[in-house]
Amino acid sequence: MAKRYSVDALVVKVKDWRGKDDAKFFTLFTRERGRIEACAFGLGKMKGDLAGALQFFNRLDVEIVEGDRVDTIRDAKITHAFKIFRNDLDAIAYGSILCEVVSEIFPREQPEPEVFDILLNAFETCENRNVRISSAVAGFQIMEHSGSQLLFSNCASCQKQIQGNEFFNIAEGGALCRECATRLREYTPQTFVYREATRLLIENFLAFDWDCDHRLSVDSISLYHAETILRRHIESIVGFPLNSYKFLDMIKKQIPNIA
Ligand SMILES: [Zn+2]
Repeated sequence: MAKRYSVDALVVKVKDWRGKDDAKFFTLFTRERGRIEACAFGLGKMKGDLAGALQFFNRLDVEIVEGDRVDTIRDAKITHAFKIFRNDLDAIAYGSILCEVVSEIFPREQPEPEVFDILLNAFETCENRNVRISSAVAGFQIMEHSGSQLLFSNCASCQKQIQGNEFFNIAEGGALCRECATRLREYTPQTFVYREATRLLIENFLAFDWDCDHRLSVDSISLYHAETILRRHIESIVGFPLNSYKFLDMIKKQIPNIA
């Protein structure tokens, strides 16, 4: 008999299944098994419950049947629908980045309960606080579990503690002190200036406690620089530009004052 299992899941990707109208392919990020993929069939004929539950960003209790080639979703109940992601374009854009990061970076069936909690905390926080900052905090925290962490507070080459304005190089593994940046200059053309204010902001993001209500002090230049580091880091690991970032670029052009 086919094996069944249940998961606490967030829907991070939905796509059509082999051009069929009533079948879809889902990527779920789950507390128990990390990233998993499963299909749901007959969505068009259903009375609505399952089809309605299986929406992008929903938190679900999902029952799945293991298959030889693909697992199948048998039942799904919504445990939380994040209303902010229904029609707030900023929230959708920044939330999609996190969804795409977890679905591209983490291997299948590898439990990452801390990443699940960060994602969940970020979605919850987006409902009543700034979505752009929530996404940046979560992005930096999630990348700490990626297996390709960068060093933000120490030189990636000599380990010396970074002080004041120094340098950064993603291929070298993060921050670089002035001496190492000068020494490596010939080999690392992608080195850029790493401002002290950006470092302090990233350190605050990494230390941020989602359960505590304190406000982060964020200046727009440091936020922009931190986001740029995060995006370059993510795209250097994934190896291609993320659709969610392209979507963000597009809506920023349409609404210039999005920040
Ligand atoms: Zn150094």
